[in-house]
Amino acid sequence: MARRLELMKDLLDITKDLVRIPSVSNEQTELNRIVDYVETFFADLNTDHLFITRYTSNGIPSIVIASEKENLEPHILLLGHLDVVPADEALFDPIEKNGMLYGRGVCDMKSEVAVMMDLARELALSSKPLPSFALMLTCDEEVGGFDGTDYLINEVGYKPHVALVPDGGTSPATLMLMNKGVFHAQLTATGQTAHGSRPWLGENAIDKLIRDYKRIREHFDALDQSDTQDRWYHTCSIGTIEGGHATNQIPDHASCKLDIRMTEDTTVEEMNELLEGLLQETTLERLVTANPSTTHRDHPYVHLYEKVLQDSLQEQMDDGKCCGSDDGRFLTDHGIPVIVSRPISDGQHSPEEWVNMQSLHDFRRLYGEYVRALARHIEQEEQTTGE
Ligand SMILES: [Zn+2]
Repeated sequence: MARRLELMKDLLDITKDLVRIPSVSNEQTELNRIVDYVETFFADLNTDHLFITRYTSNGIPSIVIASEKENLEPHILLLGHLDVVPADEALFDPIEKNGMLYGRGVCDMKSEVAVMMDLARELALSSKPLPSFALMLTCDEEVGGFDGTDYLINEVGYKPHVALVPDGGTSPATLMLMNKGVFHAQLTATGQTAHGSRPWLGENAIDKLIRDYKRIREHFDALDQSDTQDRWYHTCSIGTIEGGHATNQIPDHASCKLDIRMTEDTTVEEMNELLEGLLQETTLERLVTANPSTTHRDHPYVHLYEKVLQDSLQEQMDDGKCCGSDDGRFLTDHGIPVIVSRPISDGQHSPEEWVNMQSLHDFRRLYGEYVRALARHIEQEEQTTGE
């Protein structure tokens, strides 16, 4: 009886079930609970065409549901994350209002995970065999993705031909082809302490830090194009600053943390070199870094998305760019094309997070048609290359 109920769960039911589990990043009990939910959902299907594997890295769980056993190179990867950012308790109770669904994670990205679960279920139960696919769901995207996607791609070794990552943009028609890279850095200055009344006897670490910060600030301010729509230029934001103990003491230590985002013309290594060249009085420490990620507009799988979007939703594709970064970067680092779009939705990470329910159903239809079109395309490719 329970099994039949699971089978009947529709897209909206799955979304709401997922939202009700407060799977905030680093809340291990809830993360395990939501992975259990996914495992039960697929285990209950009782099909021989799905293989469920759970992984753990530093206590963070992930789950992969694949159409072929132990195949690390599926044709199509459906990639999503089950963790969300913190919210008031009330937001974990999803609410329908005026055609919208509100709640933590409905946009980022539990409704999209529900789309992929619903699609994987349909593919597994359909009699027509498809090229291999895998649904990969991780639990740490909101805190860097290192024990989720990074671990599964770079340590376990998953290397799909193409990945669908519905974790960016604000509509199915906006395909996010580029993400800026990230360079989080700490600058540290050291000096010599002395009494504040005799500054000539000391060496002020805060002054050194401020002078170097100004050098960096001037560099980035000269690049500013904040009058443009897409704000596609390198940016630098100072996030924290600390140093000194007392008003009347020359500080011998000061540091700050910078959040630098760079466009596709600059790699992490190049940014490192550039910063080293600017700094004169502080040392630079790299914290989190990631190269910019790009999927080329001319890629056949992008053209195919454009066509399916036109055919199934009668919409024209827009090229999108994202100033933030997502887990897709772990794939584009290996040259794997990443297809990033979303149902009409917005307000991620805010108390007003919503998804348009009609668009969610449209998106589900689009994903179904796109995966089938990809499957046909891949089959044709393999026939012509004689694989
Ligand atoms: Zn997300």
